[in-house]
Amino acid sequence: ATWTAEHGWHDAVVREFGPLQLSPAAAVLHYAQEIFEGMKAYRHEDGSVWTFRPEANAARMARSARRLALPELSEEDFIASLTALVQADEKWVPAYGTGETSLYLRPFMFASEAFLGVRPAREVTYSVIASPAGAYFKGGLKPVSLWVSQDYARAGDGGTGAAKCGGNYASSMAGQIEGADHGCDQAVFLDSATHTYIEELGGMNLFFVMKDGRLRTPALTGSILEGITRDSILTLAKDLDLEPVQERIEIQEWKDGVVSGEITEIFACGTAAVVTPVGELRWDGGSAPSGSPEGGGEVTRAIRSTLLDIQYGRATDTRGWMTRLV
Ligand code: PMP
Repeated sequence: ATWTAEHGWHDAVVREFGPLQLSPAAAVLHYAQEIFEGMKAYRHEDGSVWTFRPEANAARMARSARRLALPELSEEDFIASLTALVQADEKWVPAYGTGETSLYLRPFMFASEAFLGVRPAREVTYSVIASPAGAYFKGGLKPVSLWVSQDYARAGDGGTGAAKCGGNYASSMAGQIEGADHGCDQAVFLDSATHTYIEELGGMNLFFVMKDGRLRTPALTGSILEGITRDSILTLAKDLDLEPVQERIEIQEWKDGVVSGEITEIFACGTAAVVTPVGELRWDGGSAPSGSPEGGGEVTRAIRSTLLDIQYGRATDTRGWMTRLV
């Protein structure tokens, strides 16, 4: 669909996947005025197709839009766009019982106006593409090793860290490369002001399972993405006899906690991997032992299967989190 300052949203169509027509002067190519979402469509046993908490993705996209000075799309139009695409592409939603397979959905919005001046675009394009996704983990849950990015932050105070915009991912890549150069799977980013507090990974939020039953996650300080998996886990925690706590957590507490045994498990979460155990932490000049047993700890595995059972329709959806698309 296209948005113009004169006519609002119009011309919504479902069409075959193919290249976009874009002017080389399109504002997005110069000023990165772009936002997106990441979701999945799940096949249930009776053949129906569902998605998880689309209202939350619609609300986050609206918040991202406000931050990036893009027009908002209503929750109704957002969900209608997913339904239209998944109905047209139903054959690409993997069959039930083929492991953790789904149809990944990528809604995105960008400044398509051809204009080189720096101001919010008056023509914007919204689109959704889809791609079948296999299991994120092949051959069991392997803890991911993490690199502490000391020099690079992905977001700062007053910046766009809480929005899901492309620029945040561009700014996290140098830290990811640094991590890979040190043999780590991913980078963990700290707050940009003091380089002391844990924020998140490039594409996942973090949780710490404490010996005393607390389930801690970094508070939303404005530079962390408000993950929908994170929010769902905070809600589910009580069912699992865990006490959810959102607060600032120092990187030093991580290093000390895994050594003292105060932290019993660490995991990361997001739509793509759902929940993944976190292994060794490395930084310039040191390392801390794995925050998880091989295959993930008990709590990590329980939270992971609880979420997956809801998403694939194997457990009753008592919270109304699932929306039927087909
Ligand atoms: N943080 C970042 C930076 C992300 O890109 C994502 C993925 N959207 C997440 C956290 C997890 O969010 P969600 O649970 O909504 O997928």
